[in-house]
Amino acid sequence: TNLAATLQHVSLPPTTLHPLASRHVAVIGAGASGLVAARELRREGHRVVVFEQGDQVGGTWVYTPKIESDPLGVDPRRTVVQSSLYQSLRTNLPREVMGFRDFPFVPRKDDKERDSRRFPGHREVLMYLEDFASEFGIVELVRLETEVMFVGMVDGGKWQVRSKKRDGICLDEIYDAVVVCNGHYTEPRVADDIPGIDSWPGKQIHSHNYRTAEPFQDKVVILIGSAASAADISRELAGVAKEVHVASRSVGDGATGKRPDYDNLWLHSMIKSVHEDSSVVFKDGSAVLADVILHCTGYKYHFPFLETNGIVMVDDNCVGPLYKHVFPPALAPWLSFIGLPWKVVPFPLFEFQSKWIAGLLSNRLALPHKEQMMEDVEAFYSILESSGIPKRYTHNMADYQFEYDDWLAEASGSPGSEIWRKEMYNEAWKNKRVRPETYRDDWEDDHLVLQAYEDFKQILK
Ligand code: FAD
Repeated sequence: TNLAATLQHVSLPPTTLHPLASRHVAVIGAGASGLVAARELRREGHRVVVFEQGDQVGGTWVYTPKIESDPLGVDPRRTVVQSSLYQSLRTNLPREVMGFRDFPFVPRKDDKERDSRRFPGHREVLMYLEDFASEFGIVELVRLETEVMFVGMVDGGKWQVRSKKRDGICLDEIYDAVVVCNGHYTEPRVADDIPGIDSWPGKQIHSHNYRTAEPFQDKVVILIGSAASAADISRELAGVAKEVHVASRSVGDGATGKRPDYDNLWLHSMIKSVHEDSSVVFKDGSAVLADVILHCTGYKYHFPFLETNGIVMVDDNCVGPLYKHVFPPALAPWLSFIGLPWKVVPFPLFEFQSKWIAGLLSNRLALPHKEQMMEDVEAFYSILESSGIPKRYTHNMADYQFEYDDWLAEASGSPGSEIWRKEMYNEAWKNKRVRPETYRDDWEDDHLVLQAYEDFKQILK
């Protein structure tokens, strides 16, 4: 399927005669998306307040050893922890690709505390985001320890934002626009349709609450999933657990069995059923007596504070209807979402989306009519459907993220993605396939790194 074909050449509506406007905008979340949204909105002349429930900026990249009271992450009364990072996490993208476009993520060799590796540990990413926030004066726009409890429409097309400080004090305010940047790696999705799972006697955990391998010492662990975290965690566990069995929907028949280079790591097809004697039976017929099932099964979009009277819904993990994954047509541009697409290079994509939103709110840019936006969304949905792509893959942009970025750039009147960034991204994924164990320390695209630094030189001058 060529989903990129749904991104037709941008034909901007005729320039409006409205004067440029400065809006009062609420940004929810001070992770990477909220920080760059705040910067772009302020650059465009808007008045911005960023709400952040945590006590520091950085979102996902604020590592904590804490885990939730329900390790599976399904009990609605559990204590929620925002970050899903495990202690050993290093980025899965090279830093040159990962960084914002005009604030290169280059090593800070002047500071011994910093991690100058090309695929650095998570702390380095947090420090980069903190540098970004202070460089662009975003810190002073952020209200820390302030959770948004409710966002809803009021008469006159404005938005009510109710927030609560950690000391319990609530505040109701009215904003012209709301930009939702609350992240989507906090609300676990678990494999709950496995026959027998409700009475399986072992321990169940979601990778959201995985921090280190220690608690799995000498255990037999079943890990469900095959995405980035599953790959990292299964290898880490193999170092301490008795046995690690990875159950994956996407594993081919020929690929099951013991992994070469390991004496305690196996690949299986999906789980068929689990039983009260603690056995786990796979669809390929094999069976294992296990202690733990670790669900590396991803996350759900979750907007517990948002009330749009049914205009925006989450259905099978599709947030919609949204024009270009950002605006509900009926509420555009006054309500927007940053960062929904996945299988992407997140930071630059957030930056492109932010520029578009900021320019639309100021009247510098214009949107098509609501009906046209709705038609565009429906055309996109029908391509997904006719291609047999499940609804929950609506925001999966693996095949066309750079076309999407370039579409946004064109719509915003700004330059698109650098050629080296696209090539380096492709090289990094190829390298990861060829060297799954060592891709973070061994690569062959130094020529692209040189090109990136040529670009950075212009910016860092
Ligand atoms: P978040 O970082 O989750 O930030 C959202 C913020 O909103 C949080 O600070 C939260 O406290 C706040 N918030 C939420 N609800 C409210 C509320 N009601 N009121 C107030 N504040 C609220 N990306 C990469 O580029 N490279 C990588 O190597 C990489 N590795 C990853 C590994 C893991 C395990 C995970 C989970 C993600 C990884 N990512 C990686 C993707 C990562 O999610 C993005 O890089 C990025 O951090 C997402 O930023 P965000 O701002 O959208 O969300």
